[in-house]
Amino acid sequence: MSKEPERGLWGYVNGNLEKIREPKKIEVAAPFVHMDELNPALECMHCGEFFTSKARMLQHYRTNGLEIVAGERPKPIRPPKANFGKIRETVEEQLNAIKYGDAPITEMEKEQCLREERELKAYKMRNWIRH
Ligand SMILES: [Zn+2]
Repeated sequence: MSKEPERGLWGYVNGNLEKIREPKKIEVAAPFVHMDELNPALECMHCGEFFTSKARMLQHYRTNGLEIVAGERPKPIRPPKANFGKIRETVEEQLNAIKYGDAPITEMEKEQCLREERELKAYKMRNWIRH
């Protein structure tokens, strides 16, 4: 009777066959074989030739300088970081421009700014907020 071979990853270390790693837990229900066959046949998007072999199709792509670019995810778009110092500076500049009449605004907008300033002052007085 022959002994069943021990499972695991085996390899030659210094000329001796040794067990390198314990067997991996099988995650699929049944073992399967990756085959070279393409069924149904795939058409080359470049020249229209049909292929029934993955290896021959990839070789065809390589010889024609083509590249497979499927399954790529676009990089997430990150909004640019706000420069709060610059924003504060701009707001102060514009408020000063309005205050000293340098901003091109209408009389109605000027009145609105004055009213908002008065209301802010009143709000601060009511709530004891020091400026
Ligand atoms: Zn082709």
